[in-house]
Amino acid sequence: MIKPVRIMDQEGIYELERKAVMDGIYSVLMLTAAGSNGLVNLYDWKTEEHKNADGSLKPHQSVDWYIEQGRIASERKGLLNASALLSALSERAPRDKGSHHSWKKKPYEILVHHEEIYIEVNGETIFLNGLAASGEAAVISTYASRHGEKKDACQNIRSLAMHEMGHILGLIPNERIENVKYTPAGRHCVNECVMQSHTSFVQQKADFLGRVLGQEEKVIYGTFCPTCMQDLENIF
Ligand SMILES: [Zn+2]
Ligand SMILES: [Zn+2]
Repeated sequence: MIKPVRIMDQEGIYELERKAVMDGIYSVLMLTAAGSNGLVNLYDWKTEEHKNADGSLKPHQSVDWYIEQGRIASERKGLLNASALLSALSERAPRDKGSHHSWKKKPYEILVHHEEIYIEVNGETIFLNGLAASGEAAVISTYASRHGEKKDACQNIRSLAMHEMGHILGLIPNERIENVKYTPAGRHCVNECVMQSHTSFVQQKADFLGRVLGQEEKVIYGTFCPTCMQDLENIF
């Protein structure tokens, strides 16, 4: 059963970026047989009591607190640790009880922000645009689209949103053994598909920063390949 989707935006997300994410998520929900079970954007979400008396942030009470978790866990100045951010987002939070944002089930959580993110895998740093936990949550960064090629920035963000939503819904399933590529950020599709590994616009940025990354694919706009579509249909 598909759960509702709750999107939060870091302060400073542009209207066009927000629209591109919403559009990407919505189009994925419409592609699944289960359809949408509720999609809400809470913008720069915070409760009225999101801060302690000393000004520190209370857990799970604001977008800022989630971002802070990525920052605290980061060993790279100015970058957010995407794994830490994602696990904070995946936790069942006190705000799921009682508040007017409460839902019977914890929704899929998506946090959209404009900072640079990375994960650390076997001592290797991987720069990402987004990261998702199947059945739980995703983080989406607009950093690369802001700092890389301006052309098609909204299409990039829309495709990224589709990609991360695909992961949330269970792509690529473990049963699938063909047309799969294993990357440090999970299982990806090798077809002409939005579920390809999406490091390309990070690559542009990486070149710009003089960094070397070991991944190379082009951005695939649009939609899922027939294999991924079939996987989605099997899941729901
Ligand atoms: Zn991915
Ligand atoms: Zn595919």
